[in-house]
Amino acid sequence: MANKEDNLKKIISHSKEYGFVFQSSEIYDGLSAVYDYGQMGAELKKNIKDYWWKAMVGMNENIVGLDASIFMHPTTWKASGHVDAFSDPLIDNKDSNKRYRADVLIEEHVEKIRLKTEKDVAKGIKRFGDDFDEEQFRATNPNVLRNQAKIDDINARFKAAMDNDDLAAVKALIEDLGIACAISGSKNWTDVKQFNLMFSTEIGSVADAANTIYLRPETAQGIFVNYLNVQKTGRMKIPFGIAQIGKAFRNEIVARQFIFRMREFEQMEMQFFVRPGQEMKWYEHWKAERVKWHKSLGIDEKYYRFHDHIKLAHYANAASDIEFDFPMGFKELEGIHSRTDFDLKQHEEHSGKKLQYFDPEINESYVPYVVETSVGLDRTFLAILSAAYTEEKLENDTERVVLKLPAFLAPVKVAIMPLTKKDGMPEKAREIFNNLKFEYNCQYDEKDAPGKRYRRQDAIGTPFCIMVDHQTLEDNTITIRDRDTMEQERVAIDKVEGILKEKLDIRKALS
Ligand code: ATP
Repeated sequence: MANKEDNLKKIISHSKEYGFVFQSSEIYDGLSAVYDYGQMGAELKKNIKDYWWKAMVGMNENIVGLDASIFMHPTTWKASGHVDAFSDPLIDNKDSNKRYRADVLIEEHVEKIRLKTEKDVAKGIKRFGDDFDEEQFRATNPNVLRNQAKIDDINARFKAAMDNDDLAAVKALIEDLGIACAISGSKNWTDVKQFNLMFSTEIGSVADAANTIYLRPETAQGIFVNYLNVQKTGRMKIPFGIAQIGKAFRNEIVARQFIFRMREFEQMEMQFFVRPGQEMKWYEHWKAERVKWHKSLGIDEKYYRFHDHIKLAHYANAASDIEFDFPMGFKELEGIHSRTDFDLKQHEEHSGKKLQYFDPEINESYVPYVVETSVGLDRTFLAILSAAYTEEKLENDTERVVLKLPAFLAPVKVAIMPLTKKDGMPEKAREIFNNLKFEYNCQYDEKDAPGKRYRRQDAIGTPFCIMVDHQTLEDNTITIRDRDTMEQERVAIDKVEGILKEKLDIRKALS
């Protein structure tokens, strides 16, 4: 594939052309960083949700689901710290009037330095092949060490500045690093300011400040305030988890990366309640489990990496990101956080209600500690889509674009086609369609030449195409075509259901 920027453009236009993602309110020129999922996107998104839900709730006896409201009592957000601290440091370039997140500018600068090292390593591998000792090179090469020292220094300065709420120091760091605006090329920056990311609105008909409420910026708080309800009514014993999929809203400062950073998005979160002191064990456990989940999608491992946070959020004592190599580079896909008892304690204090759990095993009451796994549904969608997007040269000098999606996530599982619109083939194909549609999302397609129909299905990632032809009418067999190999196999119609069941089963992926 061509360079990364091109890839993102290709994925955006493919998403639009085949009904995966549209810009919101496009006829009015769109709304910045808000997107709609089209006919294919809605299916893919739903399949990702179902797969996550199955893995978290279905596969774990001690995890149950929840569906909390987007609106919550405003004190929730005071207690959680979001009113006071859910902000990003923003900085404007005075020449382009472009707004940036100061932390992102610094992170991107660090990433550039890191890539220099990766380039040096790649050069060494290319030059010396198997004789190249990568580990030793990384530990001793002067360039590598110098770059690492630079990175450590920048990270340390940034952390100190943020810990001390010293926004002038953040600006000074940006200036010292010589970071320039990508649009104007200038280093003419405003001061750094904090900008709260929560959207507010009013509830009820009286417009005074007491009625201001927020659109939730994370789904987690809905879980925290319900944790005792669920624990008591579900007779849950610690350790146990509550999982939720739902919308969250953030007035993001920089929102230019398609569905990677949206102002309205969906999270798939699980809060796991544990005995105090056991949180690190469970933190490691969920880190490993979540990596396993991502790997079960069959995407090449090179797309993933871990990133431990240097600047912890106000609620965490350990935090790590699973990063994905998106079309615009490695970025956060999922966060795993050890949130301590911060949230529950805060809610106890602000509500005046006890949120303790009586642990029968140790005969003690306590406020549980929480380990959270939080993955963006839209980012997972983008990760899966961008890893699946493949341009292939075919033997006859033509090309095809194929989405090599995990078969069990594909929007359409099977397309059923009559070779021609004559001789009873459409009727036969319809019969198969009407039988399979109970189990699978199917498409019936009789328009255009078979090659063109196959291309259409490849482009939306349909793993199987069934063709009804002349022979079908004679011996009740069809051909079933595999999306990835493009091979066609002739099988009896009554075998089709069994074949699909085996190939689309999520059992293998989940176990
Ligand atoms: P970032 O640093 O990229 O802003 P974050 O650390 O603020 O993300 P969390 O608060 O940990 O994100 O949220 C958990 C997950 O929700 C993220 O890993 C991401 O997948 C998703 N997410 C967060 N913000 C957005 C957004 N604006 N658009 C889409 N997904 C998002």
